[in-house]
Amino acid sequence: MGQYNPYDNVLKVVKEAADILGYSDSDIEAIKYPERELKVAIPVRMDDGTTHVFEGYRIQHSTSRGPAKGGIRFHPAVNLDEVKALAAWMTFKCAVVNIPYGGGKGGVVCDPNKLSENELRAITRRFTAAIAPLIGPEQDIPAPDVGTNAAVMGWMMDTYSMLKGHCVHGVVTGKPIELGGALGRNEATGRGVMFTTKNILRKLGLDSNGATAAIQGMGNVGSITAKLLYKEGMKIVAVSDVSGGIYHQDGLNIPAILEYLSKDRRNLLEDYNEDGMIRISNEELLELDVKVLVPAALENQINASNADRIKADIIVEAANGPIAAEADETLNAKGIIVVPDILANAGGVVVSYFEWVQNIQSVSWTEETVNEKLKNIMDPAFDAVWNIAEQQHTTLRTGAYLIAVKRVVDAKKARAIWP
Ligand code: GLU
Repeated sequence: MGQYNPYDNVLKVVKEAADILGYSDSDIEAIKYPERELKVAIPVRMDDGTTHVFEGYRIQHSTSRGPAKGGIRFHPAVNLDEVKALAAWMTFKCAVVNIPYGGGKGGVVCDPNKLSENELRAITRRFTAAIAPLIGPEQDIPAPDVGTNAAVMGWMMDTYSMLKGHCVHGVVTGKPIELGGALGRNEATGRGVMFTTKNILRKLGLDSNGATAAIQGMGNVGSITAKLLYKEGMKIVAVSDVSGGIYHQDGLNIPAILEYLSKDRRNLLEDYNEDGMIRISNEELLELDVKVLVPAALENQINASNADRIKADIIVEAANGPIAAEADETLNAKGIIVVPDILANAGGVVVSYFEWVQNIQSVSWTEETVNEKLKNIMDPAFDAVWNIAEQQHTTLRTGAYLIAVKRVVDAKKARAIWP
C-alpha cells in the first residue's frame, strides 16, 4: 500500500471517466491542476499571552463553471494535498448536481476543541483577512466544513465586510440566519444524504422501513443524517464519534443520543449510556453487517487494510473521500454498492447555492421551499447517475464522474484557453 494521497485518488477517477468519455489527455490536462493555491501564516495572540502562528490554505481548483465554492476545515490533520483533493471534489460535486460553481476549499491546521472562543474568532478573522484577496461573492465563496460552523461563517462575513467597508452577505454561505443564512442550510447535507439513501434503497427494491444502518461520525452531517434516517423508520444500530462507537442490535435511541450530544459540545459518546447497548470501536462500526453504512467523518476510512472485511450491502459516502481508490475495487468485487460523496453529500452545497442566490437578490425563502428545491435537485441528479452507470456498466462513482467531468471539460472547452 503506497502513501495515501487523496489528490491522486481524484486524478485516478477523473482519468477513468475521461477515458470512457473519449477525452484526450489534452482535454483533461488543465483540470489536473488547481487554478490557485494560497498558503498563509496566521499569527494569533493566545489567551495565555503567547503568540502562535497557525498554517492555513485556500485553494481554487476550478472556476470554469462559475465562482469557486467550498468549505473551510479547521482540523489538526489539514494539509495541502488534502485541501487540494477537497477543492477538486467540490468542482465535480457542483458539476454533478449542475449548480453554477467551480470548486474550492480552505483549511487551517488547528484543533477547535482545544481553543477558546476568543482564539477561534481570532484565527477566523486573521485567516479571512489573509485570503480576502481571493474570496468574494463573484470569485470564491467559503462555507462550513469539518470543525467550522455558522458562528465561524458569521465572523468571516463580518471580517470581509469590515475590510470592504460595507455589508457583503454573499461572501460566505452557511451563515447564521440573522446574517442572511438560508433556512434549512444547517440540515442540508444530512437531508441530502437521507434523500440519497432512500433513492438507492428504492432503486434496489428495498424497504427503508426497518433497514439497518451504521453511521460513523456525529458531527453536523452524521448527526443530522442519523436524525432523519431514524425519522424515516430506519433502524440505526450503531453510531460513533472520536471517542468510539456504540451498538444496539434493536436500534439505538437516536433522539436521546442527539439530545445528549447537543447539550454541550464537549459531550462524547464514551459517556453516553442506554439499556442494551454495547461499546464498539470506530473500526468495528465500519465492519458491521448492516444494510447501509454511512461514513460521515473524514477521508480514507475504508482502504486496503479493511476493505475486504466490510459487510454492509450499501455504502453512502456522507463524508468527502471516505473510501480510498484502492478499496473501491475490492468493494465492487464484493458486490457492495457505493453511492459516491460528490452525489451523496451534495445537499450542503446545493443549499449554499440557494443561500447565495437569496443573498444576491435580497430575498428569503421559507424552509419548506428550500427543502423542496433541494429534493428537486437531489432526486434527478441521483437518477441521472444511476442511469448512466447502468448504460455504461460502471460503478455509481464512475457514473457520477462521467456526468461531472463532461460538464467541467465542456465548459472549459467552450471558454477555450486564454489568451
Ligand atoms: N463543506 C461542504 C462540502 O464539502 C459544503 C460546501 C459548501 O456549501 O460550499 O460539500
